[in-house]
Amino acid sequence: MTKQTQQKLVVANWKMHGSLKQNEALLTDFIENLSILNHTQVVVCAPYPYLAQLQSLLQHTNIAWGAQNVAKNEVGAFTGEVSAAMLKDFGASYVIIGHSERATAYCESDENIATKFVQAQKHGITPILCVGETLIEREAGVMGMVVSKQLDTIINTHGATVFAGAVISYEPIWAIGTGLAATPEQAKSMHLFIRNKISNLNADAANHLKILYGGSVNPQNAVQLFVVPNIDGGLIGKCSLNAQVFEAICLAVENSAQ
Ligand code: PEP
Repeated sequence: MTKQTQQKLVVANWKMHGSLKQNEALLTDFIENLSILNHTQVVVCAPYPYLAQLQSLLQHTNIAWGAQNVAKNEVGAFTGEVSAAMLKDFGASYVIIGHSERATAYCESDENIATKFVQAQKHGITPILCVGETLIEREAGVMGMVVSKQLDTIINTHGATVFAGAVISYEPIWAIGTGLAATPEQAKSMHLFIRNKISNLNADAANHLKILYGGSVNPQNAVQLFVVPNIDGGLIGKCSLNAQVFEAICLAVENSAQ
């Protein structure tokens, strides 16, 4: 199966970067230069304290916003956590779930990630689920098994239906922040693998699922990566912190959609 959904998606993952002043400058540039996009939805995922700023600056634009994590619980004595309902209060419509930087630095389990995924959906927030293998796993040729297992934790507890309208971001861990992106061939084969896996369980969910690529995307490799079948857009880290560079990536995605 090589279904490619019509509308593309580009997600800026600002990680733990920014300040009120820097964000305002970046967002003002995005608003001015990305209003021309017709086939691409842009989303900015910023640290929690800036959600109010995103809401205030982006609410009447074509750019959506979201967070980089969410609590697995609804409400209660969970010091330091932020619930899906709270994200919704600030107009967030997307949330990144299971980013490898969280999975490794904060010991996030696949079970927690699965709970967060459905918790976001329960509040009308689109989860962006990150999956991907380490360099050792790729060199051992087990990347399909690794990604499959990451997806299975969600499928086994909640079924494949939950992927309808959701986003999966294939992010090989060896490509994140290293300057070494996956080749279009490597990405093509993993994206097809993911689409087929979901399609074999629920064809409709697979048709309504966006699969992003993330890991050292820049304006140069974007041109080759985003024309690959089953790549519905990108999750962009470092290059989303520079307005001109990020906008060039968004334009490459937009052009690939036409
Ligand atoms: C990321 O952290 O999700 C990411 C893709 O980062 P970078 O683009 O910097 O590799």
